[in-house]
Amino acid sequence: MTESIILNDGHSLPEIGFGTYPLRGEEGYLAVRSALDAGYRLIDSAVNYGNEEEVGRAIRDWLKDTGTDRDEIVVQTKIPGRHHEFEAAIASGRDSLATMGLDRIDVLLIHWPNPSVGKFKEAWRALVELREAGVVRTVGVSNFTAEHLAEIIDDSGVTPAINQIELHPYFPQAQMLAEHERLGIVTEAWSPLGKASAPYAEPAVLEAARRHEATPAQVILRWHIERGAVPLPKSGRPERQAENLDVVEFELSDAEVAEISALAREDGRLFGGDPNVHEEM
Ligand code: NAP
Repeated sequence: MTESIILNDGHSLPEIGFGTYPLRGEEGYLAVRSALDAGYRLIDSAVNYGNEEEVGRAIRDWLKDTGTDRDEIVVQTKIPGRHHEFEAAIASGRDSLATMGLDRIDVLLIHWPNPSVGKFKEAWRALVELREAGVVRTVGVSNFTAEHLAEIIDDSGVTPAINQIELHPYFPQAQMLAEHERLGIVTEAWSPLGKASAPYAEPAVLEAARRHEATPAQVILRWHIERGAVPLPKSGRPERQAENLDVVEFELSDAEVAEISALAREDGRLFGGDPNVHEEM
């Protein structure tokens, strides 16, 4: 069982979650069910993943079949860039709730800031209102820079509980982690393994894996946990889902964490997803 992290709104988050992109349809349904069977209790979706219906159905069916309490699962989704106007963002959150067929969404995030559109402050006020209305329990953002965070906090007086950002050994985001710590925001890591460019063969990762009798993927996920970030690995394969969750039996030393962080590259982003310029609608 993984530990819980307390958010700035008093709710809690498991220390590791399950990423669902690009799992869809029957494959997505089965992957979410096997992830829940493996023990994941945080499931990450988004309107733009096109899988909220099957993710919600898998969670509902699994809760019913196992008799598990709804409160044990943290269901997270994200509003897309095309829904940043206030009323559209309110409707988006309500639509996600209906599509997932759940009593509430536990975590709702703004997927990308899309600064050229310039409406993320409006979207943030709408998320806060959805929280007041009980549609959503926790509100946060994704891909926000320190400047975007400052703008919404100044405008609304409400600090997001979570910022989900690109984070992996080639792109360790030390400055964003420090900023989140200063603001009391929990960092979630997307592409935590590094997806297609995972650094499995890097000596710092391989040697730590050998020392702890772990796999390279487990070492990377443990590196996130040691740095206080919540990784959201995706796998469609039950055996890897279990492997990725099995990271609580060992700890990395400060030196091992530092060696893996030192794999940082000048621009280690996977696909140039700089939130100041990359936009997703
Ligand atoms: P990732 O989790 O770092 O990597 C996934 C890839 O690694 C898949 O190809 C998977 O293949 C493989 N894999 C998983 N476990 C493995 C293991 N133990 N050993 C070897 N290979 C393994 O990257 P991601 O899917 O891009 O990101 C994870 C989640 O982050 C997404 O699902 C999504 O929920 C979220 N995300 C959010 C944003 C955002 O803008 N907020 C952007 C990107 C992603 P198999 O499936 O074949 O195992």
